[in-house]
Amino acid sequence: MDADLLTKKLKDLRNTFEQEEQLLTDLDRAIGDGDHGVNMLRGFKAVDEKISGNTLSEVLKSTGMTLMSSVGGASGPLYGFSFVKMASLNHDEINQDNLKEYIDEFKNAVATRGKVSGGEKTMYDVLQKTSEYLENNQSISKEQLQQFADDTKDLEATKGRAAYFKKDSIGHIDPGAQSMVFVLNALSEDV
Ligand code: ADP
Ligand code: MG
Ligand code: MG
Repeated sequence: MDADLLTKKLKDLRNTFEQEEQLLTDLDRAIGDGDHGVNMLRGFKAVDEKISGNTLSEVLKSTGMTLMSSVGGASGPLYGFSFVKMASLNHDEINQDNLKEYIDEFKNAVATRGKVSGGEKTMYDVLQKTSEYLENNQSISKEQLQQFADDTKDLEATKGRAAYFKKDSIGHIDPGAQSMVFVLNALSEDV
């Protein structure tokens, strides 16, 4: 996937989040404040309008800066910072040989910024499991990514707003884990 295809994939996320806004709203209503659908759509609408760059790094950086400045809430800085960090990797394309490198950069950025680790019922869980999966596989399907988000259902949240729900957070998919499925699918489906 070169810079042009990545640009197309990231712009297409606007359509994805238009379609999935209600799902994310419903998930965040259950264990948060109900704005995750609106947040993600606002972010990727801005990306669709402002994305620029001729190289992979420029495209990733432009996406990150746009997300940071357009999305409020906990998720905006986490996604924004992560795209900026991925821009520090120097490759002309994302391919099966370096996909794990991008996912690991993404994962480490969320860990640093969110002070989060595995099993806390956040977007991080999907990143961690995807990274593990890519140790033995060169690509990942949307169904597999969805399974990793579904796995957050059984966890009790200990980070972010959902942590206020304590045991009541169990039984719901984490909204950020769900949005991460769409973001990672865009980065990985055509490598
Ligand atoms: P807010 O909670 O501020 O309303 P959003 O609803 O947009 O922000 O995003 C909530 C999502 O952000 C959660 O579902 C979770 O996946 C993620 N999140 C929140 N805090 C953290 C954190 N410290 N580390 C990693 N992810 C987090
Ligand atoms: Mg929210
Ligand atoms: Mg909020």
